[in-house]
Amino acid sequence: MDALGINNPETKDTPRRVAKMWIEQLTDGERRNPDDIIRKLSRTRSRETIVVRNIEVHSVCPHHLLPYELKAHVAFVPDGYTAGFSRIADYVEARAHRLVLLEELARDIVDGLHERLKAKGVAVLLESRHGCMVFQGTPRRATTVDAFAFRGHYELDAKAQMQAQRLLMKK
Ligand SMILES: [Zn+2]
Repeated sequence: MDALGINNPETKDTPRRVAKMWIEQLTDGERRNPDDIIRKLSRTRSRETIVVRNIEVHSVCPHHLLPYELKAHVAFVPDGYTAGFSRIADYVEARAHRLVLLEELARDIVDGLHERLKAKGVAVLLESRHGCMVFQGTPRRATTVDAFAFRGHYELDAKAQMQAQRLLMKK
């Protein structure tokens, strides 16, 4: 507020309010250990694709400190194990509530889930809308950015990767 030269009754509590929001909402993932989120796996005999769709979260651009909105979709093929689906959504949220670039976030999620679920493969699509594209330079309100990431057989098998891509993009 000092840098902006603003000091009036309306903004008296703003620094405290903003600090609280940043700590509790926007970057709480920085202080969470993702390893604590998916602790227990359950056994499954399924070897077929499972898709968890429309995980709505937000993240923050580390370059401009502007939030961006995300819709995450996660596909995986189990290899003996699965986890609670809400745990998977919680995992995405803990990864997202940080200062992180979109494509790095996609990597973090796919790497973490691949390791923790011991899955045959994991594929992630992040659909996003960026504050940076709206509030600086030419406002581009309608622009969305998609980032994919693949691990396991999805990374190695081009056909499987194409199928996962199509599956994740299906509305
Ligand atoms: Zn930015």
